[in-house]
Amino acid sequence: MDIAKVIVDVPVRSTDRPFDYSVPDAMKVWIEVGSRVAVPFGHRTVQGFVVALEYGDVRAVPGLKPVQEVLDLMPPLSPELVELADWISERYACRKISALQAMLPTALKGKAERLISLGDEEAEPDAAIFPDEEWLPMFPGPGREERDIAEFVRGSGEVSMKQLARAFPSGAETVKFMLRRGVLKESQSIKDKLGKKKLKAIDLAVDPEAARDALASFPARSARQKEVLSYLIDLEAVLPMPLKDVLAALQVTAGTVKGLEEKGLVEITEIEVYRDPYRGRDFKPSTPLALTEEQQAAYDPIAAAVEERRHEVFLLHGVTGSGKTEIYLQTIQRCVDQGRQAVVLVPEISLTPQMVERFKSRFGSGVAVMHSRLSSGERYDEWRKIREGKAFVAVGARSAVFAPFSNLGLVIIDEEHETSYKQEEHPRYHARDVAVRRAEQGDAVVVLGSATPSLESYYAARSQSDIHFAPRLLTMSTRALGNALPRVEIVDMREELKEGNRSMFSRGLHSALAARLERGEQTVLLLNRRGFSTFVMCRSCGYVAGCPNCDISLTYHSRSDNLRCHYCGHAEPSPQVCPECGSEHIRFFGTGTQRVEEELGKLFPGIRVIRMDVDTTTEKGSHEKLLAGFRDKKADVLLGTQMVAKGLDFPDVTLVGVITADSALNLPDFRAAEKTFQLLTQVAGRAGRHSLPGEVLIQSYTPDHYSIIHASGHDYDSFVRDELRHRKELHYPPYCRLILVTLSHEEMSVALRMAENLALNLQGRARQRRWFGSLDKLSSDALDLLGPVASPIPRLKGRYRFQCIVKWRGSIDAIGLTREVADELEDSARDSGLQIGIDVDPQMMM
Ligand code: ADP
Ligand code: ZN
Ligand code: ZN
Repeated sequence: MDIAKVIVDVPVRSTDRPFDYSVPDAMKVWIEVGSRVAVPFGHRTVQGFVVALEYGDVRAVPGLKPVQEVLDLMPPLSPELVELADWISERYACRKISALQAMLPTALKGKAERLISLGDEEAEPDAAIFPDEEWLPMFPGPGREERDIAEFVRGSGEVSMKQLARAFPSGAETVKFMLRRGVLKESQSIKDKLGKKKLKAIDLAVDPEAARDALASFPARSARQKEVLSYLIDLEAVLPMPLKDVLAALQVTAGTVKGLEEKGLVEITEIEVYRDPYRGRDFKPSTPLALTEEQQAAYDPIAAAVEERRHEVFLLHGVTGSGKTEIYLQTIQRCVDQGRQAVVLVPEISLTPQMVERFKSRFGSGVAVMHSRLSSGERYDEWRKIREGKAFVAVGARSAVFAPFSNLGLVIIDEEHETSYKQEEHPRYHARDVAVRRAEQGDAVVVLGSATPSLESYYAARSQSDIHFAPRLLTMSTRALGNALPRVEIVDMREELKEGNRSMFSRGLHSALAARLERGEQTVLLLNRRGFSTFVMCRSCGYVAGCPNCDISLTYHSRSDNLRCHYCGHAEPSPQVCPECGSEHIRFFGTGTQRVEEELGKLFPGIRVIRMDVDTTTEKGSHEKLLAGFRDKKADVLLGTQMVAKGLDFPDVTLVGVITADSALNLPDFRAAEKTFQLLTQVAGRAGRHSLPGEVLIQSYTPDHYSIIHASGHDYDSFVRDELRHRKELHYPPYCRLILVTLSHEEMSVALRMAENLALNLQGRARQRRWFGSLDKLSSDALDLLGPVASPIPRLKGRYRFQCIVKWRGSIDAIGLTREVADELEDSARDSGLQIGIDVDPQMMM
């Protein structure tokens, strides 16, 4: 093997292919597929990933540059992950480098750094230019400075440009001069953003026998040293151990240890420690529960597939409280018993300590947790625990699908319908599809679990026709603890208004709340903020305060009393009078959680409310503190946005109220009904999970909508039937697939012209291949195009946006074609500032 094929970290399309580098002999043992390397590229040093190794005659390729450095002793990616990255780049029309980088923790996204060292040993700094000492006084500045700089660099061997600039703030010219003459030389290296955390440790420097002998001949006055030595001999099995632990345990000083070190009996080394985000927390061990009959019936086929190491995808459709987690835990155990590893994906907002605890209490320190609320150091350490084989279960959000296990046997995706499994930025991958692909590569099992499966997964399971995956359906329709699903009542808010109730609480919800307060039971209140605006509007003329850069309304923030744009960050003071008509009746509109909290205080003086929304959960750990407070019954009501709907399990919650069920129903998104149904079902599942019966009240202005009616009846099947009928009529997924192409430019006319151009090219080429045509036709292959139209957010950060939607089905390469056309257009419009984004299987239509 002499040639390494490397994907370089240069984010332009022309470099989106492997480049060849020769492998120096000294590196041969270290370089593998998946290694991260530093390579010369143009005039720079960049980071890259080895995606293949080939035997070849390096001499036959003139100009082949060598790999400069191998950045990790253990390759951060396995060959399987490298292959998966390749698949991702095609499936989601993204660059290979961005797929590879998505697999690594941010700490490993190295940056090139300039390093300075001394040049030619003989070239004395000042002697080179000032051969004669007598010239020196005429150039006192540079001469002395050069000497100082050279001395500084000599002292440390290699210094970064940054360190040098800090030490000699005005020496830049001199350094440049020295570099030009070769007195100093420059090299580049890739620096990781973060190092491993190291700790001073103590170890025996001789074998225990010799140490014991030394102990016998110790002078009496060295009693302390003797004590340390015999302690280390006793604990020989766990050496090296942290020095500070030894000092603390024996109450000795570092001087004592130093004495032993000087005698050559112990040595001080360093050990790596993992930053454990859950350190110091006790997890009560839990043992497997005896499965219910329904659980057993779902568990058996999954366990069989795991046992046989056979790739299969299961869709576990189980109502809230049916005990899906216990099935996950026991299948993981099965997988681990075989010496394989498991990944559990959980939506970011459900990744609560409660959730983590369920896994930690069963699998202890074998669990690594990966989510964005950890610091990047913690994330890196959890990732390393996996890579180095110290963990066998990874629990995490979306990106945990890339957990670098060597022998992955099982992937579980809880709440598989959640849109957060789709990454909205490059690479725009869907963790579910990536998981299925990864499992396919490695003969692993996938379990998709949900009380409200996505229509895509459910339809695929039912029709067994999806080209990508067709899961086997497993159903659980009763709760594991035998209690009934809560009674759900819909309250027609139009009626309330007719009868003179202008409050945001219906009379029914009001009296239900009052009853809970009296009985000392708890309530969860959900404010569906999706699509709900907290904008500022003039009641006299209808003026709405909007962002000057983006065509969306500004959001009112009561804490700072200002208006902010959620897209670009623009902020301005809240207006006192309407800028259009001068009216004073301008104020913020819509209901925020704060408003509800105030109203609750007025209606029920003394009520204790815990509010959970983006404002109260920004700080690290705040989320869990709020929940712990509610669990300890420090509040009567938990009030919040979507966050309160997921995965929470509190025994004393007997009432769930939804303030407005339908705020999201009118969003320009074909999944609006599905999302509403899912949210209502989830939140209703929070009530009466234990011995106390639960009650759910849903307030709505459109109480006849099928998503609300079916959610109130816990009737997933009927909802799916109605919803699939709509989807089929309008040609939406799962009956076809979508590609959303967004073009943006600072000038509206250019953006529009380019969008039209793209649409024409796409149509033309699809027609050539005989793909183009209406999806109404019966043919199994079809492609249709919508647009161009202005995007739902027509202007963002000063750029005008237009979009086209490709609808397609069958086995045609619609993704490849779209990318081809977009690439060509971008090339032809080079330097004009045109940007084209491709989103395959978009989840957000906005
Ligand atoms: P889901 O994830 O399907 O909503 P959970 O896994 O949270 O349901 O289970 C609901 C409750 O039932 C939990 O309190 C859990 O401990 C309990 N449970 C699950 N399986 C069993 C079982 N086999 N025996 C006893 N209790 C169980
Ligand atoms: Zn006005
Ligand atoms: Zn803006």
